[in-house]
Amino acid sequence: MTEVAEAPGAERAQELKRIKHWINGTPVAGESGRSGPIYNPAAGIQTGEVDFASVEEVDRAVQVAKEAFASWRAVSLSRKTEIFFRIRALVDEHREDIAKILTAEHGKVLSDAKGEVARGLEVIEFCCGIPELLKGGFTEQASTGIDVYSIRQPLGVCAGITPFNFPAMVPMWMWAPALACGNTFVLKPSEKDPSASVYTAELLKEAGVPDGVFNVVHGDKVAVDAILEHPEIAAVSFVGSTPIARYVYETGTSHGKRVQALGGAKNHMIVLPDADIDMAADAAVSAGYGSAGERCMAVSMLVAVGDAGDELVGAIKERLPKVKVGDGMQPDSEMGPLVTRDHRDKVASYIDKGREEGATVVTDGRESAPDGGGFFLGVTLLDDVKPEMDVYKDEIFGPVLGVTRVGTYDEAVRLVNENPYGNGVAIFTRDGGVARQFQFDVNVGMVGINVPIPVPVAYYSFGGWKNSLFGDLHIYGPEGIQFYTRGKVVTSRWPDPATSKVDLGFPQTR
Ligand code: NAD
Repeated sequence: MTEVAEAPGAERAQELKRIKHWINGTPVAGESGRSGPIYNPAAGIQTGEVDFASVEEVDRAVQVAKEAFASWRAVSLSRKTEIFFRIRALVDEHREDIAKILTAEHGKVLSDAKGEVARGLEVIEFCCGIPELLKGGFTEQASTGIDVYSIRQPLGVCAGITPFNFPAMVPMWMWAPALACGNTFVLKPSEKDPSASVYTAELLKEAGVPDGVFNVVHGDKVAVDAILEHPEIAAVSFVGSTPIARYVYETGTSHGKRVQALGGAKNHMIVLPDADIDMAADAAVSAGYGSAGERCMAVSMLVAVGDAGDELVGAIKERLPKVKVGDGMQPDSEMGPLVTRDHRDKVASYIDKGREEGATVVTDGRESAPDGGGFFLGVTLLDDVKPEMDVYKDEIFGPVLGVTRVGTYDEAVRLVNENPYGNGVAIFTRDGGVARQFQFDVNVGMVGINVPIPVPVAYYSFGGWKNSLFGDLHIYGPEGIQFYTRGKVVTSRWPDPATSKVDLGFPQTR
């Protein structure tokens, strides 16, 4: 059945779980004959098989969502709010279970997985305020006897395509505002860790979301293309790597859809000479190696300004042997394995590449990776990295932190602004004036001042600039509500019959 090549040397769990689609409120076994493997990255063994949808199976999910739309959009806001409060309660109640699913398939440590669920939950909480969020404007007496008001209405069937690194939170960024606004949804989660989406579907059903409103189809490019080309899908949210984000944006919009496509990143953390170096080193280690560097907001390049470099590299080097790498289910593990063997090998190859390009390997993560079959790599620190090197230019997406040294603040800002990505950036300094100037100067969507991973809270919106986002609107928060609705303006008159007369002139407002 499996068409996806297995990683060399991968073993299989005795009994493989089978992950099915979720259509019209029930699990549906795939019929395409295509599927892909799911691994336990800490053990390096295959634990499951996920069905891959055909074009027809995607169409079935879309038709169900289309049928459910008419009644879901008509559900009152107070009833939708009630359902959202129930979703909130159920996700909260099951946050431990969801986290365990994430750790089992993604590999991230349990505490990190719980953090992911908590941040997703905040987006659900924001959506509990949907009556307030959908309030329109009203203008009385725009003209004599005429009132004008604006309303926001749902789009119809919306779709989400999500990456492997946040299998619960990123889908929540999408389905929560989409459903709260009255849309129905088809989710295509990452084929690497799809179980959390099906678990979420069960919780939504339990919370009272009607069948057909939320559907999950699994798969690869076939399913993605079926979504992008489907005439009944009004809008697509995508989060993933930049080449695919660009493809999704171009293909989806050419098929008449509204698309927001969030891409990859190369996030810089600038450390000025006046910064508290211990605080900066703690932040760099946390933000560089947390979730094994598999975060789109992970810090991957440190830019040491002036004489900050030696002290900073020394302080980070001192901290690295203490990072506990191990099975994410073990309570003392701080960093888990990478998601697949292929990805681990690709990330590890950057260590030699960096050395060949002239970088200094201060700490080599291959030397500290736990033994066994898991997809582990320890923490790596590269110094003397230069912007022309591949280890600088590429999004490595693993526990490899680079340091580059520059003479001035201006040089540091130029590096960030010339980088093709623009997701997150941070500056570490004690100088408020410089920090304020930095927020003015820098061409990046999310900025941290002495905060290494500046992911906006749920009532702001998340999104990068440049090659980190294709589309106009950021995800979740107020812009998420805007993305999943369209505006309508009503001009209304309830005339006094006594004043009615035929008037063929151009309508006047005064
Ligand atoms: P990916 O681009 O490989 O996959 C994302 C989704 O696209 C998956 O659902 C996958 O099935 C699908 N896909 C993969 N190849 C495809 C193809 N050729 N055609 C159509 N669809 C395809 O990304 P990933 O490896 O799962 O996730 C890591 C990437 O996501 C990193 O680049 C990371 O920076 C990025 N990311 C960005 C954000 C953000 O908010 N900007 C957040 C999380 C992750």
